[in-house]
Amino acid sequence: MAVTAKHYAEIYRQFQAPISKRYDCGKKCAPHNGGVPVCCDIDNAIPIVDKPEWSLLKSRTDLWQRLKPTTPSQRREVKSLEDSESCAIKCKGAAHCERDNRSLACRSFPYFPYFDPKGNLVGLAHYWAFEGQCWVIANPMIVDQAFVTEMVASHEYMFRHDKKWHETYVEFSASMRRVFSRRKKKFAVLGRDGGYFWVLPHSGGKMIPAKAEDLARLGKMFPEDPATDANAAA
Ligand code: SF4
Ligand code: SF4
Repeated sequence: MAVTAKHYAEIYRQFQAPISKRYDCGKKCAPHNGGVPVCCDIDNAIPIVDKPEWSLLKSRTDLWQRLKPTTPSQRREVKSLEDSESCAIKCKGAAHCERDNRSLACRSFPYFPYFDPKGNLVGLAHYWAFEGQCWVIANPMIVDQAFVTEMVASHEYMFRHDKKWHETYVEFSASMRRVFSRRKKKFAVLGRDGGYFWVLPHSGGKMIPAKAEDLARLGKMFPEDPATDANAAA
């Protein structure tokens, strides 16, 4: 069975929570990216949707269009999708964003559903390629529990209807463990029922509880950020 446009409509209905009610994180990263939030900048992140999601978006709004590549990297990306079930799209830009018509990737960024080695969906982990650009990754304690809960529930709904997506994230989670083991570094997981965990390198995916104050030491991202407490930087 595969996810249809109808399923995506239900996923959108279930997953509306902002990443943080207290922070407009776009205001944190945009000043360091020519005034555009990093995840809304086609030069940094090309939105990829599968065809049923694209059908749904087209039926709801004219916010999006198929990406007509203008740079070598965009051309490569579009070409790589030619024979696939997905396509690259582009919105009208952050100034024209329509909350209800954001793609699932927009709603989820910078997180993906993280599976432990036994195949349990234990929470959310971040797209590590955006470390150093996405302020949220360096400040995970600002993420609201409502966001985590809705993201997990809507993805579980998706996985019930599409085993392929389930497998994709199981494999992506394993890739993250391999990458961080090579780096000899732990990474943070936002627990699906609250709380934080570290996944330790070279441990077979062992998770230990992490304190919010330890996460606050993850990274001073921009020069204007306080060194250890993002909550002071509302
Ligand atoms: S999620 Fe990350 S990259 Fe996107 S607007 Fe927020 S801080 Fe910027
Ligand atoms: S739809 Fe909104 S959140 Fe998604 S890329 Fe466009 S401006 Fe950003």
